[in-house]
Amino acid sequence: MSESLHSPPVIPSRRPGFRVCYICGREFGSQSIAIHEPQCLEKWRIENSKLPKHLRRPEPSKPQPLRGLELTDREIMTRAEVGCSTD
Ligand SMILES: [Zn+2]
Repeated sequence: MSESLHSPPVIPSRRPGFRVCYICGREFGSQSIAIHEPQCLEKWRIENSKLPKHLRRPEPSKPQPLRGLELTDREIMTRAEVGCSTD
């Protein structure tokens, strides 16, 4: 008999009240994420704009209905090409 439960593995737990940034995937408190998200998105846009055209990605979309989201026809077509496979 060996004691294999001496040190339990450290598993990061998802605490309630924490939300995952849809852009970078990191966890933030509900207060912090409201500050972080616009900054993170701005940063993402800057980084993305530095990339060569063929490496650019469509902007991550917030998993909520967005008001005032303006998409040009071209952007919609780009997203359709990248994303949807309708099953
Ligand atoms: Zn982020």
